[in-house]
Amino acid sequence: MNTTGTLRIAAVDPLRLDAVRAAGTDGHGNRLEVFAAEGEGEPLRCCLRYAEAGEPIILMSYAPFDHASVWTEVGPVYFHAERCEGYPVDDRLPVQLSKGPGVLRTYRADDTMNYEHNTVVLDEADLEPVIGRLLAEPDVATVHVRTLKPQCFLYAVTA
Ligand SMILES: [Zn+2]
Repeated sequence: MNTTGTLRIAAVDPLRLDAVRAAGTDGHGNRLEVFAAEGEGEPLRCCLRYAEAGEPIILMSYAPFDHASVWTEVGPVYFHAERCEGYPVDDRLPVQLSKGPGVLRTYRADDTMNYEHNTVVLDEADLEPVIGRLLAEPDVATVHVRTLKPQCFLYAVTA
């Protein structure tokens, strides 16, 4: 895979996941339940790969912003039931989640959404060059990568 070497990929903060696991609830009223992954398309936001069949995982409600924002959107994300190694390569898109289709949401430095540059990728194109172009815009600081049909948050990219 090509890389510009300038992108920073952010999985869900492991400390946030530790806190959720310790609390037993996702902070949105849902009690955590551990179940075995089917291994057929459960993207894990802790280590940014698909779960393998039988892995103990959790589905919780999650908001990418960890501060007050009117652009806070809560949605379902999978993560490992136990702390994992996280996402070790933070300057490359995760291999299994690096192609479309998907929705790329663009945010300014103050985390307000920049509607003008929100981009839908309909085919299985490499997302990296598209994300690179978006982050080259002067008023785009962060790109949130989401799935296309359910529009679930996958990970954040900054330049
Ligand atoms: Zn994981």
